[in-house]
Amino acid sequence: MDQVALVVVRAVESGATTTKDIIGVTRLSRLKVERALSTLEKQKLLLRERQGSWALGFPVAPTVRQCGSCTLCCKVLEVTDLSKPVNTVCSHILAGGGCEIYHERPRQCRSFSCAWLQGHLDDDWFPETTGMVPHFGLDALNVQVDLDDPDRWREEPYFSKLCELSLKGLRVSEGRPYATLVIVGQDRYLLLGRTIVPDPTLFGTAFVPITLDTFRYWKATSLEHLQRLNDRVMEIQRIQQEFGHCAIPDDDDPSPPYRPALLQRSKELGVIRTT
Ligand code: SF4
Ligand code: SF4
Repeated sequence: MDQVALVVVRAVESGATTTKDIIGVTRLSRLKVERALSTLEKQKLLLRERQGSWALGFPVAPTVRQCGSCTLCCKVLEVTDLSKPVNTVCSHILAGGGCEIYHERPRQCRSFSCAWLQGHLDDDWFPETTGMVPHFGLDALNVQVDLDDPDRWREEPYFSKLCELSLKGLRVSEGRPYATLVIVGQDRYLLLGRTIVPDPTLFGTAFVPITLDTFRYWKATSLEHLQRLNDRVMEIQRIQQEFGHCAIPDDDDPSPPYRPALLQRSKELGVIRTT
């Protein structure tokens, strides 16, 4: 999927469901947004719903467990067809678990199953107990946290497991890459191993490893900015391969050429020696 399509998907995931809203948050041209929407619709990754709004429509993996008494997703997730906002208990939840309109429940409810239900996480991630609903999106593992216990995800053993999943998602060699995003009310946190990126932008985050599970990151404010940041990250990696080290720059908005500035700073800091 190209970067424009990815930005459009992220905009829909973050609540921009009409074409006008998507243009507003992405600042992309109408032509680019409409092309991306059309491509994503053909791939059945987005669906056009009534009143011209868009919804995610990616295929859901089969479930291997039972929800039992859990109804947490019916509280923490938004259900647009019912005009149910996030973090609001659905009026159709039955006492003891289940849905009183099960056979007529909206498409969004029918197509949802959390990552625990799909068997991706151990028993101790049962959402009713943890207060967290982890679910896979198109390019992300989203962890929606119940506002009754907003810091639960920072506690152990959950935080370490989220770090582990985040590192797995970043390694392209271990299957399809995905980002790990924690959502707490209006707040969003991107996890890069043990590094927490508050308020990640729709356009993406460039990063380089500092240790095995921590990262230096730069948040992009446009697709062009992301391209420049990623080009500099590639140059940092080339210098690291060539010289063993490279100084990590502090500035957030680089412009090419990157190599001379990186080499100069690395020499000044004494992390590399060149003849
Ligand atoms: S959060 Fe998961 S286990 Fe709980 S009701 Fe929803 S799908 Fe079922
Ligand atoms: S309609 Fe049923 S399945 Fe959908 S959120 Fe409400 S209780 Fe849950």
